[in-house]
Amino acid sequence: MTPNLLVEVAYFVAAVLFIIGLKSMSSPVTARRGIIWAGVGMLVATLATFATPGMHNFLLMILAIVIGGGVAWWSGRVVKMTDMPQMVAIYNGMGGGAAAAIAAVEFARGTFHSEVAVALAVLGALIGAVSFAGSCVAFAKLQGLMNKAFRLPAQNVVNIALAAATVVIGVAIVLIGKPTAAHIITFFILSLALGVIVTLPIGGADMPVVISLFNAFTGLAVGFEGYVLGIPALIIAGIVVGAAGTLLTQLMAKAMNRPITNILFQPISGAAQEGGGTIEGSMKELSALDAASMMRYAQKVIIVPGYGMAVAGAQHKVWEMAQLLEAEGVDVSFAIHPVAGRMPGHMNVLLAEAGVPYDKIFDLEEINAEFPLADVALVIGANDVVNPVARTDKSSPIYGMPILDVDKAQNVIVVKRGKGAGYSGIENALFYQDNCRMLYGSAQQAVASVVQHVKEMG
Ligand code: NDP
Repeated sequence: MTPNLLVEVAYFVAAVLFIIGLKSMSSPVTARRGIIWAGVGMLVATLATFATPGMHNFLLMILAIVIGGGVAWWSGRVVKMTDMPQMVAIYNGMGGGAAAAIAAVEFARGTFHSEVAVALAVLGALIGAVSFAGSCVAFAKLQGLMNKAFRLPAQNVVNIALAAATVVIGVAIVLIGKPTAAHIITFFILSLALGVIVTLPIGGADMPVVISLFNAFTGLAVGFEGYVLGIPALIIAGIVVGAAGTLLTQLMAKAMNRPITNILFQPISGAAQEGGGTIEGSMKELSALDAASMMRYAQKVIIVPGYGMAVAGAQHKVWEMAQLLEAEGVDVSFAIHPVAGRMPGHMNVLLAEAGVPYDKIFDLEEINAEFPLADVALVIGANDVVNPVARTDKSSPIYGMPILDVDKAQNVIVVKRGKGAGYSGIENALFYQDNCRMLYGSAQQAVASVVQHVKEMG
C-alpha cells in the first residue's frame, strides 16, 4: 500500500467512526460509547494528517495539539455541569474559527484547485467567522459577562447592511480569485462583526436555539474547508456536524414555536420585563412536611426539573424521593421540557446520572395531557418552561412558546430559593395561582427535608 493510499484509507476509517459515533449518541444508553468512537476517529484522522506525504511544520502541529488538548483536558475536568452550555458554545465557536482560519491561509496562499474551491473557501470563511464571533457573544452572555439584552436602534437594518457588505466583498474575492490582503482583512472584519451584531440582541429563551444554529454553521464551514483542502474526512465530519446541528436547530425551534428567522431578527430580549400584563394574587408558602404529606398520599405525582435542580445538584435526592413515593404506591413520572436547564438534554443527562430509568422520563408532547390527572406537579428549580403566560398573554415576550401544563395539575408545589426570575427574566403567573404553593429553599436541601418527612411517615 502506498503512503497516499494508506492516508486515504485512514481518513475513510475516521469518517466511518464519526458516523458510528454520532449514531450511537442518538440514545442515552449508547451515547458514552459513541463519544469514544468519535474520539478514536479523531485520533485516526490526526495521525493520518501527520503521515500525509509532503507534510511539514510538525513542531507547530504538535505545539497546537499540546496547547489545545491541554486546555480541553483541563476545562473538561474542572467545568461544572451547569457551566457546560458556555463550554459547548465556546468549543463550537473554536471549530468555526478554525474553519475560517484555514480559509484565511488558503487565501493568502492563493493556490486553489478550482473556482468552486475559491467560492467554498469564501462561504466557509464567512460562516465560520460568524459562528466564531457569535459563539463568543453567546459564551459571554451565558457566563454572565455581558448584558443579555442589547439592541441597536434599527437593528435589522444594520444586520442587513452588514450582511450585504460582507457578501459583496466575498463575491469580489471569488471573482478576483487572488484577493489582496486588504480584501481578505476587510472580509474577515465584516464577517466577525456580523456574527457579533446578529447575536447581541439574542437572549432569553432563544439562546439554546442560537447555540445549536452556530453548531450547524460550524459543521458547514468545516465541510466547505474540507473540500478546499481536499480532505474527505473533514468534508464528512463537517457534513455530519452540519446536518445534526441543523436537525437539532429545527427541533428546538419547533419546541419553542419560533421560526429561525424570528429568533435571528425578532429575538426575545433577555430582560424582557417590559412585556406581559400584571399578575394578580400572592405567592403562598408551604412547609416541607406539608409537601411530603401531599405527595405521600397522592396517587399521581409528576416531577418537573429545571435549571435550579442542576445548580443545586439535587437530582440524586430527587430520585431518592421518587423511589420512596413509589414504594408507597404513588405513580411518579418526570416531565422534561426541551429547553429546560441550560443546554439541550440537560435534564435527561442529570436524571440519567442519578439512575432514573428512561421509561419514567417523558417529553412535553407525551406528558402534557397527564397534568390534569396529577394530584401533585412538583416543580424543582424550573421557571420559564412552566410559565402559563406563554399560553395566555399575547403581550408576553415568551407568548407562543410551548410549556409544560403544570398549572393544570390539581396541586402544584414549586421548589425554589426565593423570588428569582428564570433565564428570560419575566414574572411567572403560575406561582400566584390558587392551586400553587411555594417550598422555599435550595433544591438539594428542600428535597432532602421532604425525603426525611416521607421516611418518618413510614
Ligand atoms: P429558569 O432559568 O427559567 O429558572 C430557574 C429557576 O431556578 C429560577 O427561577 C431560580 O429561582 C431557581 N433556582 C436557581 N438556583 C436554585 C437552587 N439552588 N435551588 C432551587 N431553585 C433554584 O429554568 P428553566 O429550566 O425553567 O428554563 C430554562 C431557561 O433557560 C429557558 O428560558 C431556556 O430558553 C433558557 N436556556 C436554555 C438552554 C437550553 O439549551 N436548555 C440554553 C440557554 C438558555 P430562585 O433564584 O428564586 O431560586
